This record gives sequence, structure tokens and C-alpha cells, in this order.
Amino acid sequence: MKERYNIAIHIFTNDLRLEDNEAFAFACNHADTVLPVYMPPAHWNDQHPLGFPRVGTARKNWLEETLYDLQQNLIERGSNLLRMDTCDVETLRIWVQDYGISLITIADSFAQEEKDLIDSLRSLPAKVMTFETSCLLSVEDLPFAVQDLPLVFTTFRKQVEKNWTVRAPLHVPAIPPLPAIPALHFPVPGLKEETQERHPFSAFPFQGGERHALIHLRQYIFERKLIATYKETRNGLLGTEYSSKFSPWLATGAISARTIYAQVRRFEEAEGANASTYWLIFELLWRDYFKWLTARFGSRIFHASGLKEDANVTNNNPALFRKWMEGTTGQYFIDANMRELQQTGFMSNRGRQNAASYLVHDLQQDWRWGAAWFESRLIDYDVCSNYGNWLYVAGLGTDPRSDRYFNPEVQANRYDSDGAFRKLWLSEHSSTASVKS
Ligand SMILES: Cc1cc2nc3c(=O)[nH]c(=O)nc-3n(C[C@H](O)[C@H](O)[C@H](O)COP(=O)(O)OP(=O)(O)OC[C@H]3O[C@@H](n4cnc5c(N)ncnc54)[C@H](O)[C@@H]3O)c2cc1C
Repeated sequence: MKERYNIAIHIFTNDLRLEDNEAFAFACNHADTVLPVYMPPAHWNDQHPLGFPRVGTARKNWLEETLYDLQQNLIERGSNLLRMDTCDVETLRIWVQDYGISLITIADSFAQEEKDLIDSLRSLPAKVMTFETSCLLSVEDLPFAVQDLPLVFTTFRKQVEKNWTVRAPLHVPAIPPLPAIPALHFPVPGLKEETQERHPFSAFPFQGGERHALIHLRQYIFERKLIATYKETRNGLLGTEYSSKFSPWLATGAISARTIYAQVRRFEEAEGANASTYWLIFELLWRDYFKWLTARFGSRIFHASGLKEDANVTNNNPALFRKWMEGTTGQYFIDANMRELQQTGFMSNRGRQNAASYLVHDLQQDWRWGAAWFESRLIDYDVCSNYGNWLYVAGLGTDPRSDRYFNPEVQANRYDSDGAFRKLWLSEHSSTASVKS
């Protein structure tokens, strides 16, 4: 007989969805009452030593929209979301002790700060259960142990693709009522529907939250069939259609990689597979790869020398770095991308590769400064993808080539041949390059 719990708490972190959420589903399926709680990371309001917030305004706004959507989704199903303002394990301790909460579920994490939270939860007198909810592949379905993860992506991909099964996404579970504990009966702070204004030129004008993610998925794959030409368009710079734009929802966990995968396969069955449908899954495998890489190497992904023995020599110059941040280096292709990031919280993959390469190889600055700035700005910030890609571009990751240099002139001529992208972001209307929170 499966074990039953009287009261469970599910702590939402980077899994802000109801569908295909094994951790939340476990609490719902095994407890008589469930209290859904959101807890921000401990570093949420920290400052970077260079003087900018670790989490900037665009990211915070994106989270607000996502939490609002999650709360509405829960309310419609007879539940609610209790939002904590800080990462406060001591309050949880009091609840566990005073109200006899016997089960805590939370999504597992690959990164150190998030793992520290899970470790501190384990000191509470309740059963703590973690579930990996972000990857395509489960650890049990990998064809190797995490410590034997191949150090080259292509080797990883080939081994995985030999014989792989991606588990089907889970349905939204039946959600048990909230615990009948008056003190926990809030009043639940109602989250405000604050749709943030979007920059008129943003390539990402979409809204946060699971329901918006699922609408976008349907439109991208089945209604507009943009998936069918993904490979040809993915290197674009302008507009909403050049790549899937799934990343900001994936980053908050508003949608799972498996849900996307399942719909791509459905599309292939209905309309036929092609190089583009394959390539989207290929990119999702990159995302998995950086997660498993973090699982294997832990905090080394934050070290100056990354996964190599020696760090590249850098010549750190805060004034030069500031020019890069603000998009005032004088190298227009880089500046246009950096202004887009500053003003919208989004940048294309092509832009990110170029901006990172320019900082590291042309300006010879510390790659970790650049990664921290992306962390502060990107609404799709994901610790594994961000630090993994920065290491890759800096030649300090697992790339078999050590010179990932992108010549910005050549790249601009190739990907912005008519100059439309540079014109858009460098024109007076679009840019006030001041860097705020
Ligand atoms: C320096 C640098 C920093 C980056 N930081 C992040 C980050 O913080 N968060 C993030 O999600 N991606 C990051 N990326 C990867 C990539 O740029 C974005 O995932 C992509 O641009 C998001 O747009 P999209 O969803 O339209 O991508 P699409 O091209 O439509 O790709 C589909 C999905 O595949 C995954 N994906 C695609 N490319 C990569 C990649 N290179 N690495 C890992 N996953 C990938 C993403 O989940 C993406 O949503 C970074 C890349 C670079 C070069």
C-alpha cells in the first residue's frame, strides 16, 4: 500500500507549472491536503560586486507574471499559492513542527545554491522528496552514469540517440484541498496581474506563465507551423518568428522540455519529420547536456578556469566592461545586441555567441563578469545553460575546439547584411543606454 501523508507542502522553485511536474504530482497523489508554496532563491535581492543586481527588473517582472498565472491556475482547481517573500526555511520549520506537516516535495536541482536549499530542508522533521523535473531524460534513462558523462557534446548526443526514450509528460494531477489550519489559511496574498509593458521592438513580447507557454507551443508548432522551418530561421535576429522562443518559459519551469518534445513528435507523426523538427530536439539536448555537465562538475562551472586546468589570462577593466554592458563599445553589431538585452531581457543565440566572444576574445575581459551580466538581465536565465555556454565560448568548457572566436564584422555581414538589426537598436528611438536595475 502506498504511504499516505496527512499534510504535504510542495515548494515551487523553478518548476512553476502544474502539468508534467512529478514533484507536485507526488504530493497531490500521496497527501490528503497540499499547501503549494513559492519560495524565491536566497540570492534574489543580492548585488553583484560590480554594482548591478544579481536579478534585474526584467527577470523579476517575468517571474511576477509567471507566479500570477500559477496562482490563477491553482485557484481554478480549488487550491491556491502561498508566496513567501524570502527563502525562509525557519518559518517552514515552525509550520512543520506546529502543524505536523509530514511531507515536503521540491524539484531537484543541479546548481549549488539550489542544492543548499534542499540540504537545509532535509534538517526539518518531515520527509523531503526531490524529483528532477527539468530535463528531457531522466537520470535512470541516461546510457551512462553522470560521473561518466562524455566530455564532448557530440559523443553525448550519439550515445543518447542510439536508443532513447523520453518519458511521456504527466497530466495535471487532481489537487487535494488546502490544509484546514486557520493559521496557514493565509490570507493568501493575492498576486497582482501585472502584465509588464513590452518594448515595441522586442523579439519576445509574450507573457509569463504556464498557460501562455502552452498557447505559444500550440501556435508555434501546429497553427503557424514555424517548427517546419526552424533550422533555416533559427539564426535570425529580428522578430518573434526566427526561433522557438521557448527558453523564458523553460527557465521558470512554466513548461517542461518533455511537453515540447511530445508535441514535436506529434507534429512529426502528423506532418512528417524534417531537419528542422530534428534540430529543435537537438537544441533541447544541448540544454540537457549543460544540466548533466553541471551535475558532474558542480561549482567548477563558476571557476575562472572552468573545466580546464588554467584560466585564460584576462586584463580586467571595469570601464571597458561597462561599455560592453551598455552597448557603447563602438562595435555596432555587439552594441546593438547588448542594447536589445538591456531593453528587453532577451537576445538571440547568434547575438549571445557574438557578445560573449567579443567580451572574452576581443576585449580580453573575465568571462565571469559577462556571465553575471547575462544572469542579471536574461529573462530566460538558466544557471546551467548560461554558465555552460559562457565556458564553451571562452574555451574553458568541454568544446574540443579551444578558439570559439566569432568575428563580429564577418558575423554582422552574414546575419545582418542589410543592417536592419543594427539600425533598429542603435537608432535614437530605441536606445537609452543607461544601465539601471
Ligand atoms: C553566452 C550564452 C549564454 C546563454 N545563456 C542562456 C541562458 O541563460 N538560458 C538559456 O535558456 N539559454 C541560454 N543560452 C542558449 C541559447 O542562446 C538560448 O537558449 C536561445 O537563444 C533561446 O531562444 P529560443 O528559445 O528561441 O531558442 P531555440 O533556438 O528555439 O532553441 C530551442 C530550445 O533549445 C535550447 N537551446 C537552444 N540553444 C541552446 C544552447 N546553446 N544551450 C542550451 N540550450 C539551448 C533552449 O532551451 C531553447 O529554448 C546561452 C547562449 C550563449 C551563447
